[in-house]
Amino acid sequence: MGRRVFLTGASSGIGEALARHFASQGATLGLLARRGDALEQLRGSLSTPVETYVSDVRDAAGVRAAAGDFMARHGVPDIVIANAGIGYGTLTEYVEDLAVFQEILDTNVMGLVNTMQPFLAPMREQRQGQLVGIASVAGYRGLPGNGAYCASKAAAIKYLESLRVECRGSGVRVVTVCPGHIATPLTARNPFPMPFLLTADAFAQRLGWALARRSSQVVIPWQMSLVAKLLTVLPNTLFDAALSRAVARKPRHPGSS
Ligand code: NDP
Repeated sequence: MGRRVFLTGASSGIGEALARHFASQGATLGLLARRGDALEQLRGSLSTPVETYVSDVRDAAGVRAAAGDFMARHGVPDIVIANAGIGYGTLTEYVEDLAVFQEILDTNVMGLVNTMQPFLAPMREQRQGQLVGIASVAGYRGLPGNGAYCASKAAAIKYLESLRVECRGSGVRVVTVCPGHIATPLTARNPFPMPFLLTADAFAQRLGWALARRSSQVVIPWQMSLVAKLLTVLPNTLFDAALSRAVARKPRHPGSS
């Protein structure tokens, strides 16, 4: 029997590529996002069983209902990927950015928790399953102009680590994924160079390999793990001097600028 995969943020970018990747392996899919038209279009292009759920990951009850429906129809997933996320530049001095801070933290942190929550107990009962959270290399250090996103991804990394240890010995594996730069609508508006940029399809294939290897934490592409390690050990004086010179920053929310 093919695997069952439940995935948020499936309507574009990395999520869409992951849906195609697992569909090509015959998986039964549960796909969640807010844009139903994009999900339906994706479903129409796939040849495996697909359930679509139009929901917002900030709405815990909505995600729970989608998860319940998927499990009632197909059973407990083998893999859940909490991928939905947003990213905009933010600056603390602008009062209008407070709402953007809130939206980013709610989506990238609580959305992650809301996605894992309904599946954890059923997976524990079956003593198997992989709970995969998409964090970011941006969670390793605070980047100027990107405070909300970096804070959200740092929180995601720590939350997933807590969950991983809580699940130790239960048969449920928690996987933290830190993408580097992946070519998607999220990064299309970045005005700065993106070293080691990967296509979303290449990313999906590498994530598939990492899950097969049963990694607990993975940086994709691997070259960015060297960058991440370097950033982590760099003393503040050097980090601050280097990063404060960076002119091009992540654009702020279109409604804020
Ligand atoms: P995209 O903007 O292409 O896709 C984001 C997906 O998340 C869309 O399907 C969107 O669907 C969904 N989404 C956003 N907000 C919500 C919400 N409130 N409820 C439900 N779904 C939502 O971005 P990427 O594919 O690049 O990003 C996917 C993940 O990877 C994110 O978590 C991002 O932070 C992370 N990441 C990406 C990197 C990159 O270089 N691209 C680097 C590091 C991390 P819809 O609008 O239909 O709801």
